[in-house]
Amino acid sequence: MTAKENITATSVDTDILEVAIIGAGFSGLGMGIRLKMSGMTDFRIFDKGHDVGGTWRDNTYPGCGCDVKSALYSYSFEPWAEWSNAYAKQGEIHQYIRHCAEKYEMYPHLQFNTTVAAAQYDQESGVWEIKTAAGESIKARNVVAAPGPFADAQVPAFKGIDSFKGKIVHTARWDHNIDLAGKRVGLIGTGATGVQVGPAIVDTVKHLTVFQRTANWIMPRLDRDITEEEKARYRKSPSSMKLARLGQYWFNELTAPFLILKYDVFKSQPEKLCRSYLKHKVKDEALREQLTPTFKFGCKRVLVSSDWYPTMQRDDVSLVCDGIDRITEKGIVTADGVEHELDVIILATGYEVRKVGAPMPIVGRNKLELNEVWKDGAEAYQGIATADFPNLYFLVGPFTGPGHTSVIAYSEAQIDYVRQAITFRRERGLKSISVKPEVERAFVKTMDERSEHTVWKSGCDSWYLSPNGRNNTLYPGFNAEYRMRIARFNPSNYELVDSADNAVRASIADQLSTSVAALKSL
Ligand code: NAP
Repeated sequence: MTAKENITATSVDTDILEVAIIGAGFSGLGMGIRLKMSGMTDFRIFDKGHDVGGTWRDNTYPGCGCDVKSALYSYSFEPWAEWSNAYAKQGEIHQYIRHCAEKYEMYPHLQFNTTVAAAQYDQESGVWEIKTAAGESIKARNVVAAPGPFADAQVPAFKGIDSFKGKIVHTARWDHNIDLAGKRVGLIGTGATGVQVGPAIVDTVKHLTVFQRTANWIMPRLDRDITEEEKARYRKSPSSMKLARLGQYWFNELTAPFLILKYDVFKSQPEKLCRSYLKHKVKDEALREQLTPTFKFGCKRVLVSSDWYPTMQRDDVSLVCDGIDRITEKGIVTADGVEHELDVIILATGYEVRKVGAPMPIVGRNKLELNEVWKDGAEAYQGIATADFPNLYFLVGPFTGPGHTSVIAYSEAQIDYVRQAITFRRERGLKSISVKPEVERAFVKTMDERSEHTVWKSGCDSWYLSPNGRNNTLYPGFNAEYRMRIARFNPSNYELVDSADNAVRASIADQLSTSVAALKSL
């Protein structure tokens, strides 16, 4: 279905949408599904791509998959019996997201190939105006921004990068026309992506040269095929899938202190386990030394791979730990002056994760620009709402990335909270609701204080931290605790303004009714 056909199918009575959702990845799509489940149909989901799926649509590099088990890396309301493995691959995750879009009749609400270029709040009407890159203007009473943290690939500014005569490809925008067979391939980056792509291409290429700047902590990936009998059992009994999800959820919760906190008591055991796994897998002492991390467990993302160490020991693979000095016509020159001749360079160098500034120009109350407000780091109450930007919500916003579990465990809780907020505003006939600045400040203070106890600030560099060394990316706590925090939308934390521009106080009845709604949604 084309974007145009989608819009026609969505036709609504009014020119103003109730909700505009930006992004059709797991979060944005989930928001739409939840709204529809609650009986709301007056919403549209905008996405710059041609399909649903966000990062799982865009990342199609060899070996791409998820290092969170599928039982948990899926919507809680849509358990799926069709996963082939305990850890799903990209194609299947994308298929699952498309299945959800289809099943919950999201396609009529989707407007693809639409880049939202800006959003501006009109204080008089309480309506947001969204401008697309193509010049379209859309009005909406509420905006939900779910652009995802991994929308933009990070290409380091290597000296001489344009002079390379071979092919350069970033994993996030894989070029399927590139033929790696019999080629000398350089892989830059050994993060979660690098350790997936290397083993996936090593049998095809002639020689793989891995350029590693930092060795990571690696745990074995205990993957397994899900048999046809199991699938049949799951199809018959969705509750058994829910049970599997619950088990996985609480297992991940138990790992939280080990992955999040900086204290040695939580570090010694997992580091010991990873070291013995490395020792067991890599016999060569010098290579083992190169593959041994020098920072605390959890400071950077802990990787899950059973084929990285075997790959690194192959005769047709070299590990280069000298820094990259420059790229030449023929390949990569490292700091020791050696030129590594290559036919293809793969950049597994991560994403431009936005930790400061807005995901797009957003202008709120009193012409305040979010870019300006967030210039020293993105902040939002519960990662969802920020003062002076009424009726605007973020999914997987500041402070709410997952440090130890599935991102969906965060976004689903947020989706339900935002649904409550949107419903509350509409049912009360309010013009706007915006979080009280002091409430937001108190939340941010708590996040900053807690972050001091996290391993993320223990000295390594990662995409979690802002240039000033602050964590405003991951949630410093248990997911269950976060879910409890936001299980109920509490209007008394918000400035409520009616259509005559009068400030309204949240009544006891309001609070009670939202409590009931929250209870129902649990
Ligand atoms: P990343 O974690 O940011 O890793 C980028 C890699 O590139 C690192 O090894 C980094 O080295 C290296 N690098 C960057 N700039 C470099 C330079 N100028 N010279 C040499 N090396 C350079 O990116 P990612 O691996 O794509 O993963 C990003 C995030 O995506 C993950 O943390 C995860 O949240 C998500 N992800 C998830 C999965 C999954 O299974 N669920 C899979 C892939 C990605 P340094 O470490 O020294 O900076």
